[in-house]
Amino acid sequence: MSRVFNFSAGPAVLPEEVLKQAREEMLDWQGSGMSVMEMSHRGKEFVSIAETAEADLRELMSIPDNYKVLFLQGGATGQFAGVPLNLLGGKGKADYVNTGNWSKKAIAEAKKYCDVNVAAEGGKSDPMSIPAQSEWQTSPDAAYLHYTPNETISGVEFPFVPETGDVPLVADMSSTILSRPVDVSKFGVIYAGAQKNIGPAGITVVIVREDLIGNADPKTPSFIDYQVQADADSMSNTPPTYAWYIAGLVFQWLKRQGGLEAMAEINKRKADKLYAAIDGSDFYRNPVDPACRSWMNVPFVLADDGLNETFLAEAKDAGLTTLKGHRSVGGMRASIYNAMPEAGVDRLVEFMKDFEQRKA
Ligand SMILES: *Cc1c(COP(=O)(O)O)cnc(C)c1O
Repeated sequence: MSRVFNFSAGPAVLPEEVLKQAREEMLDWQGSGMSVMEMSHRGKEFVSIAETAEADLRELMSIPDNYKVLFLQGGATGQFAGVPLNLLGGKGKADYVNTGNWSKKAIAEAKKYCDVNVAAEGGKSDPMSIPAQSEWQTSPDAAYLHYTPNETISGVEFPFVPETGDVPLVADMSSTILSRPVDVSKFGVIYAGAQKNIGPAGITVVIVREDLIGNADPKTPSFIDYQVQADADSMSNTPPTYAWYIAGLVFQWLKRQGGLEAMAEINKRKADKLYAAIDGSDFYRNPVDPACRSWMNVPFVLADDGLNETFLAEAKDAGLTTLKGHRSVGGMRASIYNAMPEAGVDRLVEFMKDFEQRKA
């Protein structure tokens, strides 16, 4: 068996310790005589797995008591609809900040349900940046303000949390959740698909302030209705049990690493190393304003596009995979989520220097 350093943007690398523990427990979870996959979600074994996962996530993120944590299906994309359906509460308008591809998708979905006011646009010019909040045009009657703290495709990350006063702040944290501490109390809703920094695809975490629950549009499908799912402990229908279990193992792994403060230190170091390698060369370039560079997704282009295929092939031979940039951006993208070991970043930096020396 040989494992590569996998820089995929998602589904992404998982901690090796977690995969090994899952392997150990595959046929017989803690003396139950069955795999977690085979358990009733109503049985005491699975309920304990689910409750432990929630408690660990609450501890990691210091989630205040007046927030519910839901484990849902439908991905972040499901929440592009779930957020307006649950939060509009009869209001016809919501503010959205558009900083890239995922913001755009959230906006397109929200337009099915309400009038969308695009309060600010960023992530377009080169270098790409985030517009300062003083320039935003918000609407006084918006039901909420939605933004994407980290744009996974372009690698643009907010260096600040917007201040929205009484207007609930909603964040699609799919590619940045758990990468550093955040003050949850500043948010109305935080949601994230799992397959970047939480666990396997198929489960979606929604952290929602309690006073925002209970006003869903009557036509909201019940599996995505925050009230229905909060009342049912996220089990109004069969939840994605195995993904929930693996997410729980990831939360325990994060606690063993020292929690989110420790992860922030490691993540910053990893990102700094990679950006330093890019900035220190005339061959590689990252098109993002240094103030808004993502810690998780690092796109870069080569001085000569004609070398892209060679770069990818040689990187693969060196055990560095899935570095191809998103088709809308081109070049390369290294996703360096929590589970990417620092050694993977070191190996990538070494490879990049060597490649430049030989090809530039
Ligand atoms: C990956 C991603 C999504 C899409 O997630 P799905 O779970 O596939 O719906 C949405 N937003 C962001 C920021 C992402 O990184």
